[in-house]
Amino acid sequence: MGGLFGVASTADCIRDLYFGTDYHSHLGTSRGGMACLSRSGIVRSIHDITNTPFRSKFEAELTRLRGRTGIGVISDTDDQPVIIRSHLGVYALVTVGKISNAAELASEAFLNGKTHFAELGGGGINPTELVASLISRESDFVEGIRSAQARIEGSCSLLLLTDDGIYASRDRLGRTPIVIGQREGSFAAASESCSFPNLGYEVVRELGPGEVVRLTPEGIDVLAPPGDEMQICSFLWVYYGYPASTYEGVNVEVVRNRCGAALARRDDVSPDLVAGVPDSGTAHGIGYASEAGVPFRRPFVKYTPTWARSFMPQAQEIRDVVARMKLIPIAELVRGKRMLFCEDSIVRGTQLKDTVRMLFAAGAKEVHMRPACPPLLHSCKFLNFSRSKSEMDLAARRALREASDGPDALAAGSRHDSPEHSAMVERIRRRLGLTTLRYQVLSDMVEAIGLPKSDLCTFCWDGCQCPS
Ligand code: SF4
Repeated sequence: MGGLFGVASTADCIRDLYFGTDYHSHLGTSRGGMACLSRSGIVRSIHDITNTPFRSKFEAELTRLRGRTGIGVISDTDDQPVIIRSHLGVYALVTVGKISNAAELASEAFLNGKTHFAELGGGGINPTELVASLISRESDFVEGIRSAQARIEGSCSLLLLTDDGIYASRDRLGRTPIVIGQREGSFAAASESCSFPNLGYEVVRELGPGEVVRLTPEGIDVLAPPGDEMQICSFLWVYYGYPASTYEGVNVEVVRNRCGAALARRDDVSPDLVAGVPDSGTAHGIGYASEAGVPFRRPFVKYTPTWARSFMPQAQEIRDVVARMKLIPIAELVRGKRMLFCEDSIVRGTQLKDTVRMLFAAGAKEVHMRPACPPLLHSCKFLNFSRSKSEMDLAARRALREASDGPDALAAGSRHDSPEHSAMVERIRRRLGLTTLRYQVLSDMVEAIGLPKSDLCTFCWDGCQCPS
């Protein structure tokens, strides 16, 4: 994944750029970067944020950088921003998304006479530089951005910093959001609207799919209108978006509460307490508890003072140990209790299995699990969303293969009322050691989000690729 923040101001913008970008730290754990237009041209700073938060790594930039226009990024993959000298002039670029056809686009660039790519990302061509090479081929920035958006398979939202302001473009099918904010003398663009209130910005509007605008301190010029089709990522609301953010006018926390309530309406267990698996399960749990009239409690808490979210060891084994060490049970709330947990989703299930074991070891009588979305059966191919190398890493996909190997098993497994679905869920339940396991029904999740299904990407769950 990743997140973007840019600001065009009549005054120095570095403070806004620094804090605005930092508010996207939950979207990536690998690289952070900022670029600003200073008197001597575009200057940039990039740091590895794998083990140290963006704010600490970039603190020195608050006094070192000066400029009235700037862009920033949190990235899970490549070093960004890239700075490009081209026939269009010098510009800096940041991107969010995934270029599925990167190899094909790079080969084509070489065939067209490009001799090299300067930056590497994860051992291959830096995807942001690849996007820059597509943009620089055209006669102006707008044509360049439109052409890049048309050629890219996957998704790419971007901010492009020039002498004339910041070009902002949301990916062609609007899988990731870009929201515009305004304060006196400044306009800003962000992936997360939660970056605005504490910096004094008010939301002006969100960009539509594929829309291109230019931000200056004076306003927003629309340079290419939005397209008609949208496939915004549903997982933004269920899992990785920030609770205080709003996309397409729909707030994340509110959707999570509604997801929890929907789970409660279909349920028939009588727990002593409801809880959320921290952090993103919490709001789903609150929604469930309110609807069911059962107390919401925190039977375990996360130890955060020394385990920052960005602490991400490379080895999966160590990551699992870190995840386990973070959660501390509160014996008084666990012993002898029938407990129901809401979780955002179950990906591999490894950590959850450890958590369930820990709860029973601490004396829990029953542990019921209610994921806020349906079983994950497909890996995301539109965003850099998951670290999974294979779809068989997904607990549901593996369980489905074990339970049913017919030609239509995948389609049947995604239908909540099919025998294949029940057999798959039962296998997962047993593997995780749960008392009961019930997943959210897809139509309930869509209803909780409140947008038409045709506007939402639900590929993870039903494999549906609506507009191509
Ligand atoms: S496949 Fe899943 S994670 Fe990827 S864009 Fe669609 S809903 Fe989001």
